[in-house]
Amino acid sequence: MPRSELESYRAGYVAFIGRPNAGKSTLLNHLVGQKIAAVSDKPQTTRFRIQGVITKPEGQIVLVDTPGVHKPGYEMNRRMMATVQDALMGVDLVCLIRDASVATGAGDKFVLELIQHAKKPALLLLNKIDKLKDKTALLPLLDWYRNEYEWAELIPISALRGNVAEVLPPQMIKHLPAGEPLFGEDDFTDQSVRTMVAEIVREKILQTTQDEIPYVTAVVVEKWEEEREDFTRIHCAIFVERGSQKKIVIGKGAARLKEIGIEARRDIESMLGHRCHLELFVKVEADWRQRAHLLDELGIKR
Ligand code: GDP
Ligand code: MG
Repeated sequence: MPRSELESYRAGYVAFIGRPNAGKSTLLNHLVGQKIAAVSDKPQTTRFRIQGVITKPEGQIVLVDTPGVHKPGYEMNRRMMATVQDALMGVDLVCLIRDASVATGAGDKFVLELIQHAKKPALLLLNKIDKLKDKTALLPLLDWYRNEYEWAELIPISALRGNVAEVLPPQMIKHLPAGEPLFGEDDFTDQSVRTMVAEIVREKILQTTQDEIPYVTAVVVEKWEEEREDFTRIHCAIFVERGSQKKIVIGKGAARLKEIGIEARRDIESMLGHRCHLELFVKVEADWRQRAHLLDELGIKR
């Protein structure tokens, strides 16, 4: 890169937050497109799940997921709250995605509070404006948000339509720190998409079981069949250390495993950009930590 370009280049980590159904995944897909990929094990990425990287001539946006932020419905204990705050502290910019077509609820207040506490540069993205018959309906909402926080930008968008992919990235890059790109093309591989699938499943286990299952769970993608171009069949094994933990993960009448599967499949389909069939098997493996081949499959360095 020529020196003059490097001097004005900006790069950083960006988190999308917003209550469920606000349109985060839709927007992410629209911005990143099919080229979503995970990232090699660079040290600074271990705290986040990288959801996608947008590279433009003027800068690079690394979109990261902040665990727990999107689950205001769950009762938040102090520890979880701290985890969420910690995740937000590590990013350079936060984008609050709000469904502007529905009334403000407790979930919206919750995510707003997270931003108020984090005191990070933030963009307010009022989404789904295509659903508003009367665009002036946005005005009271803009007023309300303006009173609550000093936003870097307030931008009405439609994650589904229009030119959001052209308009939004420059607005995000503007508020990132000056610096070189964080990732190069070589950091992306197919293999890491599978790792990301395993991480998504693991995240859903942690979210649905909360404190009941501490960090004993490992997830391994055992089967990956691209049956058609737009359909992938995935089998994942969930490893726990004890029978009692298996019961917790499966839940009464398998309800919890089903919830984990539904939630994970939604995110995986968003990431892959097509439908998938996800099957989860819970296996008890008392000493999985010691099992070398498993560690290799998990990509954990020995
Ligand atoms: P998330 O839970 O925040 O990740 O939300 P999703 O991205 O899964 O979106 C929830 C629903 O809202 C999906 O049915 C999307 O198709 C829809 N949606 C997202 N953005 C828009 C938008 O700009 N306009 C309209 N009309 N629907 C949208
Ligand atoms: Mg989503």
